Amino acid sequence: MQIINPATEEIISELQETSKDELRRILDSLREGQKAWSQKSTKERLECIIRFGELIQLNVNELAKILTLETGKPLQQSLNEIKGAQNRVQHLRKNAEKWLAPETLVDSGSTHEKIVYEPLGVIANISAWNFPYNVGYNVFLYALVAGNSVLYKPSEFATLTGKQFEKYLWQAGIPENVFQCVVGDGKLGQQILEADLNGYFFTGSHGTGLRIAKTVAHKLVPVQLELGGKDPLYIMDDVSDVKQAAINAAEGAFYNNGQSCCAVERIYVSEKIHDEFVDAFVAEVKSYKIGNPTSLETFVGPLTRKQQIKFLENQVIYALNKGAILLSGGKEIEGKGYYFEPTVLTHCNHEMDLMKEESFGPIIGIQKVSSDKIALELMADTNYGLTAAVFSNDEERALHLLNQLNVGTAYWNCCDRVSPNIPWSGRNNSGVGSTLSTQGIRAFVQPKSYHLRSLPSEN
Ligand code: NAD
Repeated sequence: MQIINPATEEIISELQETSKDELRRILDSLREGQKAWSQKSTKERLECIIRFGELIQLNVNELAKILTLETGKPLQQSLNEIKGAQNRVQHLRKNAEKWLAPETLVDSGSTHEKIVYEPLGVIANISAWNFPYNVGYNVFLYALVAGNSVLYKPSEFATLTGKQFEKYLWQAGIPENVFQCVVGDGKLGQQILEADLNGYFFTGSHGTGLRIAKTVAHKLVPVQLELGGKDPLYIMDDVSDVKQAAINAAEGAFYNNGQSCCAVERIYVSEKIHDEFVDAFVAEVKSYKIGNPTSLETFVGPLTRKQQIKFLENQVIYALNKGAILLSGGKEIEGKGYYFEPTVLTHCNHEMDLMKEESFGPIIGIQKVSSDKIALELMADTNYGLTAAVFSNDEERALHLLNQLNVGTAYWNCCDRVSPNIPWSGRNNSGVGSTLSTQGIRAFVQPKSYHLRSLPSEN
């Protein structure tokens, strides 16, 4: 498998793909390894995860370089991602033992009732490329602490990074037969679905997620899907600092080139402040430094995948045909690398797929609205349900809208944000199940309920 640098289109590495026979051998060894791993205490397993976190921290610069080379993520954002994702390790350090401890519910009289949380076994983690640290950690760290072994298949666009996870997990004391990173694309993914695993944890697109759910349904094992979104942001008329709101909204839309599951994908703005907001928004977007992702100054690098360029161009053309106005960007940047101009369109509406289908790139549609009621209808007009955001000075007014939306995450005066303290989950086409927080660890265990009755003593 060739690894291509999206900034230069040069081949930076060639890797041997995992064969079907190798996959079988790896799964046998993971099954064996899991038995001993599950017998260790949570504390012992946690110690390995903490050491892994320390090793990542020690090697952060090298790791950020690899992430930037293979995905085109600007270096500063690679550093931010690696350092930011460490909060999962800290959160597990604080909570894992508590979350995984047996719970006694009834401890009086002759009958005792308790729950013991047992690992699932060998789980598959099939992952995406856009935030490999965040989405990888969300799954494999929690699965490992809970006593599972993990077959990790990174995206074919983030394999070098995936291999680094393997290297440092092993160095941190996780046995080789407890974590294995396999190399390949969707074909290997398909073979993993056909193999015998105890759970499938997927991060990626809605189309692939649906295929996975259908393929493994007959196994009756846990399936968790963290999928895409078409996340709306509504700017209410009472926002006092319109310029700051525009800066924050633009960052939510264009950070990581818009390639975030929870990127702001469409913006609705009250007609009272629309023009002021758009002026500030476009000025901000035009100030972004575009270019070589290895420079710490760069904010917008290349797209990770070449095929996304055509997709984005089509969204622009279609929107323009339906009456949108282009205020910035709109096309591929000539020369080497998969660069696309940061693109802002106004006068958008829901006849445009730009406002309905995930763009996953540096492109945003803005629509003017005349009331909260209309904004709410438009925000709800989607098959996705990942996040929704409202910027307003009035918390009650913002929550009145957010409470009515069928989304896993609601933001007031912030966006494009994930925290280890609270669950991360999508609804409808954005997926099923939760990562992070207590729910995120419970996903990797199965409860066993004990009814323990002591018999009356003879005397
Ligand atoms: P993708 O669906 O193309 O690929 C994801 C993974 O699935 C890759 O490892 C790929 O090799 C594998 N795969 C492809 N076909 C397969 C098959 N038939 N069987 C098994 N595995 C298969 O998605 P992507 O381009 O890597 O990621 C981008 C998508 O992920 C976006 O939609 C984004 O919103 C979403 N995402 C969601 C979250 C979240 O937490 N909700 C986080 C990050 C990304």
